Amino acid sequence: MPPALLPDGYFSAGVEQTDPLIAQAIAREKTRTRDVIELIASENIVSRAVLEVQGSILTNKTVEGYPGKRYHAGGVNVDVIEQAAIDRACQLFGCRFANVQPHSGSQANHAVLHAVARPGETILSMNLNAGGHLSHGADANASSQWFRIVSYGVRANDGLIDYDEVIALARQHRPRLLIAGGSAYPRALDFAALRRAADAGGAKLLVDMAHFAGLVAGGAHESPFPHADIVTTTTYKSLRGPRGAIILWNDEALRKPINNAVFPGLQGTPSLHIVAGKAVALGEALQPSFAHYAQAVLANARALARRLQQHGFDLVGGGTDTPLMLVDLRAQGLTGAPAAQSLERAGIIANMNPIPSDAADLKVMSGLRFGLSGATTRGLGQAQVEQVGDLIAEVLEGLRSRSDDQAATESRVRAAVRDIVAPFPTYG
Ligand SMILES: *Cc1c(COP(=O)(O)O)cnc(C)c1O
Repeated sequence: MPPALLPDGYFSAGVEQTDPLIAQAIAREKTRTRDVIELIASENIVSRAVLEVQGSILTNKTVEGYPGKRYHAGGVNVDVIEQAAIDRACQLFGCRFANVQPHSGSQANHAVLHAVARPGETILSMNLNAGGHLSHGADANASSQWFRIVSYGVRANDGLIDYDEVIALARQHRPRLLIAGGSAYPRALDFAALRRAADAGGAKLLVDMAHFAGLVAGGAHESPFPHADIVTTTTYKSLRGPRGAIILWNDEALRKPINNAVFPGLQGTPSLHIVAGKAVALGEALQPSFAHYAQAVLANARALARRLQQHGFDLVGGGTDTPLMLVDLRAQGLTGAPAAQSLERAGIIANMNPIPSDAADLKVMSGLRFGLSGATTRGLGQAQVEQVGDLIAEVLEGLRSRSDDQAATESRVRAAVRDIVAPFPTYG
């Protein structure tokens, strides 16, 4: 017998048989997500179809380049898939061009930076503490090493962007690119004012709509087009697709710079199984049900925001126009890390987050961020979301009062959460 080249069951066995460590961790993840309420703003729950294509044989295919212009043979089928993803993205967001290859939102933003600016040139963007994103020029991100970053923040009194400040900074610094959109900015952006700021400084305008793209797709939020020159979004937040991102724009003159910045500038071969997942998710977002979903996400986000305010919590920006909200815990004398940990023990999954001009240590932070994209996909409506708001308040009140029975509160809430989510199963 010649030595075996492949493990037993290579083409036939499932991971349960071949790799128990990984299979068991996945099984436990199924149980974990079944019994808790996921309020992490960056998460959602993809369809069975999106799951399926990501586990398909497309993972084996390598091509470089774009549909019809590949450097490897055998691209006939993946060209159909990538072109469908491009066409659907353009149809959904009403624009002329799309690049569907970025592996992540950060990659998409880096590609745009390199497409419109030379190293050392100026970028104007919202700082991380005000709710911006790492890839918009944060100190710890490579973007700040390549470009000169000038940043704007939010007003201390209301947590909102001061557009006059943005216009003044654009005039003064004449950036190549003005970036708007963030990871923790809950309110709608004034795209027309951002356009005026970009024009005042001779800049291109990039709107990174990662968190609210699903609302734009479903008509529950204004579109950044026609004001923005370029729009980026992750595909896995409110857009409810696979992990990754897309870049959208209208000007033919940007086609080569952007496509070349993605490949060969920053990436090599695209992940075609993920591109297929993007195509399927974009197809889902084009269906009428997605508009209802988008409305429900916004209604749920506003319902939770209101409920938390009724319980006395301060919301940065005073509420939300997006799937997410940011709770400022300072009035309760709490910080984000212990709050998120106690909530996790109570079955409510969220993340600590800095609030604007946060003075707390970065390891604890002063805020909590909640998002409703995933819970809405699961089927929770306003009645359940309000109950969840009451449970969040109960856990945080226990922490605030330094209750001796916090463990008992957590387990009581955990049981209540399980009862709330039990009628809403996901993948069967
Ligand atoms: C989530 C997010 C990204 C990107 O994230 P990756 O983790 O790189 O996929 C980019 N911009 C904004 C505003 C985001 O919220």
